[in-house]
Order: sequence, then structure tokens, then C-alpha cells
Amino acid sequence: MLPSPRIKGWCPGAWRPMATGDGLLVRVRPPMGQLSRQQMLALCEAAETFGSGLIELTSRANFQLRGVTDTSWPPLMAFLVEHQLVSADPEAERQPQLMLAPHWQAGDDSPTIASLLQARGNELAVMPGKVGIAIDAGKAPVLSDSAADFRVERSVEGGLLVRADGHPLGTAVSDAEAAVEQLIRLTHWFVESGGWDAGRMRRHKAPLPEWAPADMAPAPPGAKLALGSHPAGQVVGLPFGRATASMLRDLVAPESATTVQVTPWRRLLIKQKLGQGDAAPAVDGLIRHNSDPRLLMDACPGAPYCEQASVATQPLAERLSGLKNSSVHISGCAKGCARRSPSDVCLVGEVGRFNLIVNGNADSTPVKRGLTEGEVLDFIRKLSENS
Ligand code: SF4
Repeated sequence: MLPSPRIKGWCPGAWRPMATGDGLLVRVRPPMGQLSRQQMLALCEAAETFGSGLIELTSRANFQLRGVTDTSWPPLMAFLVEHQLVSADPEAERQPQLMLAPHWQAGDDSPTIASLLQARGNELAVMPGKVGIAIDAGKAPVLSDSAADFRVERSVEGGLLVRADGHPLGTAVSDAEAAVEQLIRLTHWFVESGGWDAGRMRRHKAPLPEWAPADMAPAPPGAKLALGSHPAGQVVGLPFGRATASMLRDLVAPESATTVQVTPWRRLLIKQKLGQGDAAPAVDGLIRHNSDPRLLMDACPGAPYCEQASVATQPLAERLSGLKNSSVHISGCAKGCARRSPSDVCLVGEVGRFNLIVNGNADSTPVKRGLTEGEVLDFIRKLSENS
């Protein structure tokens, strides 16, 4: 096993930005998982005016602005509050992150539950900063692979259930109000049963309380949003979860664009007014096709963006794209932020070189250590030729 990286026990926000290798990182949680076109344009302006112009989309469906400085942060916050991208109340950011199934529509259970939960947000227990809640109450769950500690899902019987992460089954609830009540009770149980020591629900070994029996299965998982045309508009991908503000501005430039819905899959759904012309414009650098080889690759920000990294990750990911028709994970260190599940090939930075892991995670035992970038490319080429 590689030495453990420094793990921070909190998630950055806008009011609590995190110092990184390229300045402060400011995370924006899109309200109800979406931004209006005007808000998206404002976010792009904020990234260019107060940061480096880079915008990231995280695996928890948040946006991140990079390269903010101590001097530019105060006016940035005033700008974000003015455009309703951030609450004026810093305490609101301390509530657990809500992730909504991306293709919710008005009248679905997901936005109803999210609204009810937000209204009762101060009744939730105070939990570790990384704890999150997935509201995934469409016809079939789509967020099962995304990080969350408590989930509201559709059950195999068609009703709603509330499920604690790490338990394959959940508890059936009668309606949206009951789901919210159950979530609030579960957060208090989590804290009272020692959840702060475990940090996350999946690591928490206390038996579930009697009033939360794990006896109802979720419905089989549904399909994630495919790239390309969508009944509501267009789905586009951000290579490795990153784009420039100018790319995203071009994406919503047509006035037919109404809303940008975020996903935890490095994809944005650009919703458009019905009958108002073709899809969102093709923007150079963004991914529009499901066959794009970069979709098989995961790469964290790496150096110089993360202080834990001694190697640049995303340039290597671009060079490796298409060389191997299997999953590749490039991680700046053994923490493995970009991917939780094992990949066919995993390259992990250590003191300026790469360790190579086959069929494993970033903290698995390498089969080769200390490779240069050139040696990595040669190795992957040979692997592809022999497979
Ligand atoms: S995996 Fe990447 S982003 Fe995460 S801490 Fe390590 S270098 Fe930083």
C-alpha cells in the first residue's frame, strides 16, 4: 500500500474556500442542481474576473472556481450573492449537501422532497462536512454510484424509500413528507450513535435503529444521461470535469438556452425552449459523443492545481486518450479523488513519477513504480498492442 495522503475532513464551499496549488478554490452549489442561463453567464464572468477562468464540475454536481486570491475573494462573494449563486448566510453552507437526480421535472417527487428538506434544513443534525444526501426519487435510481450518505430512492414496489449508504436495502416511506421526516431522524441517529467518529455513513458500523428497518430494495438502476440530443435540449461533457469560462459561455450563448442542469457525471444538460432552433452549439474542447475516448478516463486536477500532487495528470490523460480501450484512472496521489471504483489501469503520482496499478484503486499495490511519463506511454501502448 502507498503512504496515505493528508485527508482533510471537510469540504470546501464558497464561504470556506480551500487553499490549493493555484490559489483558493471556491465551490458553488447550484440551487436545486441547476442554474438559469443568466446565472451560468454570471458564473463565467465571476471565474474570469475573480479567478483563473477555469471552472470544474465535481462528482457531487457542484461547480468550482479556481485561482481565486485573498484579494479577489471578497468581491467574488459579493458578486455570487448578488446573482443568487451563493446564500448570503454562511451558515446555510454548513447544511449537508443535497444532490438531486439530474433529470427531475417540476411535479416529480425529487424537487418536492428537496424543497421540503431545505425548508427544514435547520432540523438536520450537525454532521461531518463530507456527509451528503441524494434525492433520487425518479422512476429509477441513477445516483447509486455517486457519493451520498443518505438516499431517497424509488423502491422495487414503486413507492419511496430512505436508505443509509452502505446498506443495500432501505425503509419504505409513505410520501415526500415522511421521507423528509425519516431523513431528519436518521441524521440525529447517525450523530448519537457515533457517526462523527466514522465520518461517513458507509464506514459507520452501528446497527440501524428499529424504526429504520433495511427491508425494502431500491428499483433497478436507471440509465444516466447520454451525451447528445435530449428531449429537453442537449447533453455535453466536460473533459475530466473541467472547462474554461469562455467554453461554457459559448455553450449557453443562444438565447434559446434556458437552464443548465448539473450532473455528477461530468456532464451538463443544457435545457432549451421548445421549438427554438437546434441544440446547443458545438463548442471546441467539450465532449459531444458517447464514443469520445476521454469518457473512459478519470483524472484528478493534479499538479499544479493540488498541493498533494507531484505530477501533472490531465495532460497525460489527454495523451493516453484512445490508446487503451478500457478504464484508465490518473491520480495525483494515492487519495484517488477522481474515481472511487477500481479501473483497469491506474497511474498514481509519487515524487514526480508514476506508479502503475492494474485492476485496482489509487491506493492499491502497484505492479510498477517510478515510471516517467514516456515510460507510461510506452507501457500502455504495448499493453494495447497485446490485448
Ligand atoms: S487525488 Fe489528486 S486531487 Fe485528490 S488529493 Fe491527490 S492529487 Fe489532489
